[in-house]
Amino acid sequence: MPEKKSNEEGGAFCGEAVIAEFEALTRDAAAVQRETLRRILSENAGTEYLRGRGLAGRTDAASFRACVPLATHADVEPYIARIADGDASAVLTAVPITSISLSSGTTQGKRKYLPFNQELVKSTMQIYRTSYAFRNRAFPVEDGKALQFIYGSRQFTTKGGLTATTATTNVYRSEEFMPTMRAIQSQVCSPDAVIFGPDFAQSLYCHLLCGLLFADEVRIVSATFAHSVVLAFQTFERVWEEICADIRAGALSPTRVTAPAVRKAVSALLAAPNPALADEVARRCAALSNWYGVIPALFPNARYVHGIMTGSMEHYVKKLRHYAGGLPLVAAEYGASEGWVGANVEPETPPESATFTVLPNIGYFEFIPLKASDGGAAAADTSFAEAEPVGLTEVTVGEHYEVVMTTFAGLYRYRLGDVVKVAGFYNSTPKLKFVCRRNLMLTINIDKNSEHDLQLAVDSAAKILAAEKLEVVDYSSHADVSRDPGHYVVFWELNADGNDDVLQSCCDELDRAFMDPGYVGSRKASAIGPLELRVLQRGTFQKVLRHYLSHGAPVSQFKSPRCVGRNNAGVLQILSGNVVKVFFSAAYD
Ligand code: AMP
Repeated sequence: MPEKKSNEEGGAFCGEAVIAEFEALTRDAAAVQRETLRRILSENAGTEYLRGRGLAGRTDAASFRACVPLATHADVEPYIARIADGDASAVLTAVPITSISLSSGTTQGKRKYLPFNQELVKSTMQIYRTSYAFRNRAFPVEDGKALQFIYGSRQFTTKGGLTATTATTNVYRSEEFMPTMRAIQSQVCSPDAVIFGPDFAQSLYCHLLCGLLFADEVRIVSATFAHSVVLAFQTFERVWEEICADIRAGALSPTRVTAPAVRKAVSALLAAPNPALADEVARRCAALSNWYGVIPALFPNARYVHGIMTGSMEHYVKKLRHYAGGLPLVAAEYGASEGWVGANVEPETPPESATFTVLPNIGYFEFIPLKASDGGAAAADTSFAEAEPVGLTEVTVGEHYEVVMTTFAGLYRYRLGDVVKVAGFYNSTPKLKFVCRRNLMLTINIDKNSEHDLQLAVDSAAKILAAEKLEVVDYSSHADVSRDPGHYVVFWELNADGNDDVLQSCCDELDRAFMDPGYVGSRKASAIGPLELRVLQRGTFQKVLRHYLSHGAPVSQFKSPRCVGRNNAGVLQILSGNVVKVFFSAAYD
């Protein structure tokens, strides 16, 4: 066998060389961070954002922190908007921004725009190769394919002529994506037309079908997010007989798949009737009990299941384990549309305790120390007191931080809004445990809605009430994941009794008013169920107030909880025990 040396994009892959590179990068992470900051600041010294901040050519961390303020998305939004509108000058970066990424989050109810450029493609390939190298050392995969439940999102052109789509679609469409996937034995079973198909349900059906056509070659079953794998096999439970019929006939169902380009590409793979494969699939399905272990049953050479399983995806791990039988679940890397943060280099760790090792050359990282305001340990659902940011190698094991990143794509001291806990160090770079999103309230899978998004939705629906001279006295919400799929519950206390038709319209409007693309996409794909509006007895929020006061909260600081988590059973019980009417949205029927 020829010696494999190159790890360039698309070149032959040598895992041990990638690991050696990673070892070298993490040995003196502080030096790598200094050099990374120097590169970012010197390359972009002439940009509008950095000019006039008083850096005067300095590229050291102390000057950077003294001159450039911390920024949120709202602070950089006007700069990004100008780039999207066609300002081709060096606004944020010296090298042009080539497209816009649409984050799944929102700012002020509007979809978040973020700069995307070739540097992000490069760091994506680096992180893919790194995590694959470690995965492959633990779970070796030689030649094979990956059954990847991935979906390109639609794209549009901004006023200034830039393509705008999700960051993952920007990556899938990059020249480097397919060669890298081939190099790391993760070649997708489905043709491109399936990934970029116009209809999610049709693409999902075809991913399953194509996976079965290559069943013996499938080594990895994956998706960006764990819930997509769960949704895929929940769908399989319903459609497997139809898929078998298509394989048997060698012809694609005319009702399930109608998009011409998708039909053409998949029909080419289905070429001839294959009753033997159809019988085999049917036999394997019949042998399963409650679909336990369906993944290894159908794909006997699969080595593991891979995808983001941490944070809001942890909810899906249980179901994924059921489908995966004894196959290992490997948590995928941690990043955002803004840029990557870390790779999972300990793939054998169960997803519940997975950590992400920061790659010190993909950006310059700072961490805002967080302490719960009551002085206790920081945790989800608490508000935090902040201290001055510290550098990557200055963090303390066991402490909580908000991630701040400076990237090659034009973000400077940008607050990512995520809370992480330092779990330990890998050489001199920290291993982060993802804790939660700050200020995030409602989330079930890939959706993210803040307190403000909820407020906008309530305001929008309350306009319908105004015509009836009704008012929302107070409101709260809850992400109900007690049943699958999960759904949003909005609690309303009104000033007087409302008519049922009016309240049904309000419920529909609430559902429609959550414009976060992660929510809209999940609703359309039924990965989130219809929103439920629960109308409360008058005086319920007074009871909630009394509950807080009885637990020692000062009345002057009391704020109605806008989102009540499962860990707040007392309040949830008060709200749920005072419901007088329930409505389910028909907005996506
Ligand atoms: P987006 O804004 O759509 O790019 O989503 C990025 C956000 O998703 C991050 O800021 C995190 O909150 C979350 N996220 C991404 N990767 C992970 C991961 N591996 N574990 C937990 N949460 C993640």
